[in-house]
Amino acid sequence: MWLLFSGMVFGFPNDSETVRIGVLAPRGAEQCLEQWGPTAEYLTSIVPGYTFQIIPLAYTEVAPAFARGELDFVLANPSLFIELEQLYGASRVATLKDSCLGNVCTVYAGVIFCRRDREDIRRLEDLEGKKFMAVAEDSFGGWQMAWRELHERGIDPRRHLADLQFAQTHDEAVYAVLDGRAEAGTVRSNTLERMAAEGKIRLDDFRVLGQPDKEKDPFPFLRSTRLYPQWPLAKAHDTSVELAESVAVALIRMLPDLPAARAARCAGWTIPPNYLPVHECLKELRIGPYKDYGKVTLSAAVRRYWFAVAGATLLLIAAVTVSGYVMRLNRRLNLAAAGQRKEFAERMKAEETLRKSEQLHSVSEKLSAVGRLAAGVAHEINNPLTGVLTFAHLLREKQDLDEQAKQDLGLIIHETTRASEIVHGLLDFAREKAAVKEPLDVNAVIGRTLQLLGNQKAFRQISVEERLQDNLPKVDGDVNQLQQVLLNLCLNACEAMPKGGALTIATSAGEESVLIKVADTGCGIKNEHLDRIFEPFFTTKPVGKGTGLGLSVSYGIIQEHGGTMEVESAEGKGTEFSIVLPAAATTGVQDGNRRVNQ
Ligand code: ADP
Ligand code: MG
Repeated sequence: MWLLFSGMVFGFPNDSETVRIGVLAPRGAEQCLEQWGPTAEYLTSIVPGYTFQIIPLAYTEVAPAFARGELDFVLANPSLFIELEQLYGASRVATLKDSCLGNVCTVYAGVIFCRRDREDIRRLEDLEGKKFMAVAEDSFGGWQMAWRELHERGIDPRRHLADLQFAQTHDEAVYAVLDGRAEAGTVRSNTLERMAAEGKIRLDDFRVLGQPDKEKDPFPFLRSTRLYPQWPLAKAHDTSVELAESVAVALIRMLPDLPAARAARCAGWTIPPNYLPVHECLKELRIGPYKDYGKVTLSAAVRRYWFAVAGATLLLIAAVTVSGYVMRLNRRLNLAAAGQRKEFAERMKAEETLRKSEQLHSVSEKLSAVGRLAAGVAHEINNPLTGVLTFAHLLREKQDLDEQAKQDLGLIIHETTRASEIVHGLLDFAREKAAVKEPLDVNAVIGRTLQLLGNQKAFRQISVEERLQDNLPKVDGDVNQLQQVLLNLCLNACEAMPKGGALTIATSAGEESVLIKVADTGCGIKNEHLDRIFEPFFTTKPVGKGTGLGLSVSYGIIQEHGGTMEVESAEGKGTEFSIVLPAAATTGVQDGNRRVNQ
């Protein structure tokens, strides 16, 4: 009864939800709990319905725990936070305020120092060839900030320092320089002042290197590096915004003289500043999420250098087009030659056939080389494209996007989809996959194609007439490829009749062959275009509409089936494509045999 009563009065502490705050603990769990436990108690007392718990974590434990969803919040140094932000969607809620000597600041820096009696070390450049002590490899204020300054002065710590060691705590790093185990060292700002205030060292024993003009510097502590924002508290991706808001408000209201603030050795909390300087630092050092920054992997390059990719694609297109042009030129040359030498018809005919086949052979060799190149590049481009598309779709599903972001994402998706279509067209064009052939009923393939097209909006205002001959011989074909050919022809016809018209598809049996005709009453094809329409990338359609690959792919497929494809067209009246496919060898005998064998 008493329990129930107390539960009612104190807000049902037994029902409260536990909120786990992971805290980067460079000085061990015990020290961490001592420093941040009071903050958890403070939050538990202020935010109703929740019990806050501190989870001390070593540097390498933070990201995995965060990734596994074990933490609702995380308190870590800025460089680790950036990594969590980029990899797992962490977002900052509040930032620590530091206090010392009556000053409060939301930024901090690194101090690089040596003993004052080292007359030979006066500038950062003098550190070359010296023994150096930092706090820890992952420490932002106790190493990475200083590293950036050295890096900018052309000092690569691993190559240009005589020795680089890590003391693990700030105080130890200071002592190491003081007693000569290292010639210079770095710690976060306010360490020297704090230790001096604690009576551990005398500031006069040290010289700070690269210090900005003290008079003009608004920053109250000694420093050698530029300023960076303090440690942020960040929320996990799926921690509710309501809870994060309550936590932020509670923290920002924390007064500097509360036990929580005193234990944390901070002056309270504030709204998070911009963390861009941290990004810049990590980028320059190529660490954290920027580890591979600037390394060129193909997929990363494609993602990053869209323009170059577009250029490469254009080049590819140009290469293929040139091949097509060469082919056309050859054909013209041959025709001209044939015309001039009519009187030597007999002899020349044999010669020409030979030459033509040789030329065609060399052109088709070139084309197939380009094709292979195209296929290779297309494969490589296709993977990153799929990645971009997937992530763009995922992003668009996010709840908190504004209108502009939604529109921009729509554009990204649209453009990427189009790039992907071109790539698939290229892959079709450079098809290396052999056709899977089986005896097919052409009429059935046509039926299925028209069924597919029936769903197309543009197809609704077109009257379709099927004149299919019964009992056609079967053809040996790949059902998907032949369907692709028919689709291409019908879609072209459809696009040639934007105001409607008639599409006729006819089949008939020839001598050991099947004839397919696809005719439309559309705009027709200009005479000068007639011998170009089978070229890859030849299109008369506006940018973004046609790829110019439909007919060249179709032509390739029909050739592979041992057939032929021709076109007749009258401008303004219509176009008719004729395909002849060889009939499959009859299978009746085989059937008969099988039956006998059984
Ligand atoms: P795309 O349709 O992407 O332009 P295609 O290779 O399918 O590429 O066609 C190439 C060009 O041939 C078209 O741009 C068009 O000029 C012409 N063409 C093809 N079919 C027809 C048709 N039925 N009527 C008129 N023009 C056509
Ligand atoms: Mg087309």
